[in-house]
Amino acid sequence: MHHFNYKNGRLHCEDVALDTIADDVGTPVYVYSAATLRRHARVIADAFDGMSCLIAYSVKANGNLGVLKTLAAEGCGADVVSGGELMRARKAGIPASKIVFSGVGKTRAEMRLALEEGIHQFNIESSAELGVLSEVAKSVGKTARVAVRVNPDVAAGGHPNISTGKSGDKFGVPWNDARTTYAQIAETDGVEAVGVDVHIGSQIDDIAPMRAAFEKVMTLVKDLRNDGHDIRRVDLGGGLGIPYRSTDNPPPPSAYAQMIREVTEGMGLEVILEPGRVIAGNAGVLVTEALFVKPAPQRNFLMVDAGMNDLMRPALYQAHHDILPVRERGADDEKVRYDIVGPICESTDKFAAERDMPCIEGGDRLAVMSAGAYGAVLSSQYNARPLVPEVLVDGDRYAVIRRRPDFDEMIALESMPDWLS
Ligand SMILES: *Cc1c(COP(=O)(O)O)cnc(C)c1O
Repeated sequence: MHHFNYKNGRLHCEDVALDTIADDVGTPVYVYSAATLRRHARVIADAFDGMSCLIAYSVKANGNLGVLKTLAAEGCGADVVSGGELMRARKAGIPASKIVFSGVGKTRAEMRLALEEGIHQFNIESSAELGVLSEVAKSVGKTARVAVRVNPDVAAGGHPNISTGKSGDKFGVPWNDARTTYAQIAETDGVEAVGVDVHIGSQIDDIAPMRAAFEKVMTLVKDLRNDGHDIRRVDLGGGLGIPYRSTDNPPPPSAYAQMIREVTEGMGLEVILEPGRVIAGNAGVLVTEALFVKPAPQRNFLMVDAGMNDLMRPALYQAHHDILPVRERGADDEKVRYDIVGPICESTDKFAAERDMPCIEGGDRLAVMSAGAYGAVLSSQYNARPLVPEVLVDGDRYAVIRRRPDFDEMIALESMPDWLS
């Protein structure tokens, strides 16, 4: 469910025409719907109503401060995977007590920052990391609350590159080492075990592997309690899929929540969730302008002004995005088959292959749908293209929440060695 619809023949975000934003800010540009972000946060919160539950939005899906502040106002906490994301979350007003720190390779400086902020929990992924965290915690006179991210050896996720819970993935402590790791925590100063953490992948379109993983985690919680550990929380990660095509049918948050209710029933656990994509994914589009059509043997290349540096998902995960013309067309308009490609000097710079679209001409605008998560956060200045701007819409108003840098800003961090100047 999202708030991008045609009104008066033009695609709108809430009550603002995408053309209005494109005329003002230029293209390419990301446009986010505050109403969609809020709606998703509320649907999830409502689904877990009555449970002790922290919704720690996964900042890596979309970490723009305007997005974070919108979600903070809904009561969301944050799941961060770097010191930078931690500072973003804090700057957006998310209290440290609602922040969990995940990630397989935290530095000492990041650990120190998180300890000084007093975050809710560290999710640790190896006994080596545990040793370093203990040293850092002792050096600042604090105790780190930790959960061990376990690898339940369950396959899930929409693409091999976003599956994380299978034995052989770099993530988590191997299932059979989990109890030993908790025994190590009990003997180590500066760290205290409070929970168990699991995150098995992203864009998961089936409840069954999640249930299998979470049931395994519950047996581990019981074992750990029998071993004498005070396990009060489970962090069940993120990963719920979203519809990228009209035929996709991921489980609704209500079914996901019902499953978690059943699995955690009677365990007396605080449940932490780390949803990212399901909150931000369908809340954003990338608006791009068609440059021209380049006919080629057996193909029409539709060149657009956005590139893989602006939206990496198709190149990185062979991801599908629906692409809609901003100017509405009739249902029976003749269709033309296009390869929709960007200007980057890479063959992977392709948003869609053999896509049937109404006839597009240079100057027409297109909206790449469902680009709110893992879109702008993955953008770069490759090919010396300015970082893509971001706009937040709320009802009939909009604001630029990251502007496009000018050329001087793009090169501002570079300096000439004195032997060249
Ligand atoms: C990426 C990630 C998430 C968010 O995943 P989504 O699929 O966007 O919900 C949550 N937790 C961890 C540890 C992650 O790495």
